[in-house]
Amino acid sequence: MEDLDFMREALSLARQAAELGEVPVGCVITRGTEIVGRGYNRRETDKSALAHAEIQAIDEACRALGGWRLWECTLYVTLEPCAMCAGAILSARIPRVVYGASDRKFGACRSVCSLFDMNFNHHPQVVSGILEEESAALLRAFFQNLRVELRSRPKWRKPAGE
Ligand SMILES: [Zn+2]
Repeated sequence: MEDLDFMREALSLARQAAELGEVPVGCVITRGTEIVGRGYNRRETDKSALAHAEIQAIDEACRALGGWRLWECTLYVTLEPCAMCAGAILSARIPRVVYGASDRKFGACRSVCSLFDMNFNHHPQVVSGILEEESAALLRAFFQNLRVELRSRPKWRKPAGE
């Protein structure tokens, strides 16, 4: 299995999120050729701001491997990690991060800031742009559908005369 194969797994988890009406982001964590953690965005389902794909995958991987240090692992995620998730990646000592699409609004690995280049005690290697177009297309389709759906809901229509 290579980066592309694991990103395909992450992408299929992102599709699961989309099916639940969640912003489609998916994540897998590997050790060697084995997937040890999986996650997808569940913020609406769990009603939690913390329910990002990466946090769930890190939690699952820690349980699977029986410890909080994921220093032999690679994290694959379809969207550039935010500051919270990049912080969790540092805390878990994950040495390598592979992501698909950039996140200009929240990305903390390059777009808004580069947390991994800052003066922390740990500096994960970052590979970006793997399955970027597929990951971004999934997000675009989700937000397009959401706009159409919101427009069709009466409560979201502006009152007449505005
Ligand atoms: Zn995040």
